[in-house]
Amino acid sequence: MTYRAPINDMLLALNHGAGLKAAIEAGHYGDFDADITAAVLEEAGKFAADVLAPLNRVGDEHGIKLEANKVTTAPGWPDAYRRWTDGGWNAVSGPEAFGGQGLPLAINAACTEIWSASNVAFGLCPLLTLSAIEALDAHGSDELKHVYLEKLVTGEWTGTMQLTEPQAGSDVGALRTRAEKQADGTYRIKGTKIFITYGEHDMTDNIVHFVLARLPDAPAGTKGISLFLIPKFLVNADGSLGQRNDIHASGVEHKLGMHASPTCTMTMGDHGGAIGYLIGEENQGMRCMFTMMNQARLGVGLEGVGLADRAYQQALAYAQERKQGKAVGKNGRGSDAIIVHPDVKRMLLQMRAMTAAARSICYATAVALDIAVRASDAKVRADAAARGALLTPIAKAFATDIGNEVAYLGVQVHGGMGFIEETGAAQHYRDARITSIYEGTNGIQSIDLVTRKLAASGGASVWALLAELDATVKQVEGSNDPAFGTTAAKLRDALGALQRASRWLLDRVGTRPNDALAGATPYLRLFGATLGGCMLAGEALAAKSHGDGERYVTLARFFAENVTVQAGSLEKTVTDSAEAVNGADAVLLA
Ligand SMILES: Cc1cc2nc3c(=O)[nH]c(=O)nc-3n(C[C@H](O)[C@H](O)[C@H](O)COP(=O)(O)OP(=O)(O)OC[C@H]3O[C@@H](n4cnc5c(N)ncnc54)[C@H](O)[C@@H]3O)c2cc1C
Repeated sequence: MTYRAPINDMLLALNHGAGLKAAIEAGHYGDFDADITAAVLEEAGKFAADVLAPLNRVGDEHGIKLEANKVTTAPGWPDAYRRWTDGGWNAVSGPEAFGGQGLPLAINAACTEIWSASNVAFGLCPLLTLSAIEALDAHGSDELKHVYLEKLVTGEWTGTMQLTEPQAGSDVGALRTRAEKQADGTYRIKGTKIFITYGEHDMTDNIVHFVLARLPDAPAGTKGISLFLIPKFLVNADGSLGQRNDIHASGVEHKLGMHASPTCTMTMGDHGGAIGYLIGEENQGMRCMFTMMNQARLGVGLEGVGLADRAYQQALAYAQERKQGKAVGKNGRGSDAIIVHPDVKRMLLQMRAMTAAARSICYATAVALDIAVRASDAKVRADAAARGALLTPIAKAFATDIGNEVAYLGVQVHGGMGFIEETGAAQHYRDARITSIYEGTNGIQSIDLVTRKLAASGGASVWALLAELDATVKQVEGSNDPAFGTTAAKLRDALGALQRASRWLLDRVGTRPNDALAGATPYLRLFGATLGGCMLAGEALAAKSHGDGERYVTLARFFAENVTVQAGSLEKTVTDSAEAVNGADAVLLA
């Protein structure tokens, strides 16, 4: 079945859950015309349904091929990419000075969900290009911007992000790729990178690689890493393509999912070294790379949302068609569609509610990142930057975990047919698996949340967010709407649990770090379950005020009573189980 972008849900999450409407009204988006949001999403939905979704299966079945260092993508891929750039989709949030449309990141976030839902392996390519654009725009010299930025913004060339090496995965500081400065100011780079997404492909004439490497006299670890721009083809003074650079795809991986996205081993230095240009300053590469990574982390969170929504749409359609058994209490001949069974309803509602919560968190992250650069008031910008930094690991890890869980349920709703490739449910499940791993594993996101984001300013950004969530819960309490059931009570309990767990972790992060680290993953889940629950309740209140509240109230209630309700036990997991985790060696290594 094809994909339909859930525009109403997306607009509700964007405008109310994520606070885009209020931010626009407060003037943080300058003269951005909010009326175009729905139109952009409608058009994106059409492009996704017409061009990208039909290629999703094709890409999964054909995968990619590597011959003589050249990658051939699946049939239809290069043409779809041409239509993508012709339609201006690559340039949605790119800087206007370099051919972009300058639309807010929040709008692009909603589009990213759409691309990921329709064809996640395709959408991954521009997702990384967008990160490259951000890094070059923020840290590159005017000269480099002049040559490369417009081509990346329009999508004429794509970008890659190259950190990983065999011995340097989560521990980026262990990387060994070497860069040596030349007399002409360029650098010669030699080394091998692995797992490089779209490191080589046939969709564009040139590829611009963003590569982390180490200078000969660089300090050890992350303090000695520099970022280099390495084009596949060097660019002549007149802008035409010149000499082939010494960076080649020497292998591609065979993977569980994302078959259509080439994952390449990149070799630099077989012919004297790749010519690279420094971005930012020497040994400041991690700072530049973080600009890319934060964008990409949000983007990967949105992959989780998109995959979840696609899996949900497909499961819903199947549950309305597949007939098995009868509704309880119904007599007569014939069987009913499985959607009549409460257990199937539960699975579908769980899928929809979790997807909606993940969506709202990701969009709220995008709005915060937007305000952090667009607002005129410095204090507003600083607060929004802290909010965006806090939410980024939650958006990435919570939303991709949900992508996996929802895709798992999608297979379950299909019964045995879910395990058979022909339905497509299995592809979503396979494709979703990597999203919890790349762009920093979800374990690394949880550690980032506890050790950096929570710990920043003694937890100030967490307390500020909790105060806002408290206001939402008060509104639900005050609504006296019986349709909310026990939503307010569940949210109130969860806020308490999140507050206590945050305090417990803050007290230990500096003094007993292993205790804090042992609770990082359940803490992130507790955060997501509480935040998501409050956001869905807030959205339901907004929908009610527009006369369309009933279904959103039911959704928010389901989430609160089935997911947020777990906050209490997650709090206990954080605070009570550190000792057992720290005693693990006696079990694991006995
Ligand atoms: C399909 C695919 C595409 C990719 N695309 C790119 C790309 O375009 N560019 C790029 O540079 N990389 C890319 N990667 C690499 C990806 O980002 C890494 O695989 C990921 O960061 C994890 O690193 P690793 O595989 O070395 O796992 P490891 O770092 O070995 O981690 C193994 C396990 O140990 C845990 N762990 C590791 N260190 C710690 C710690 N300090 N504390 C707690 N737990 C820890 C991890 O959470 C994980 O569960 C891609 C990978 C794949 C599979």
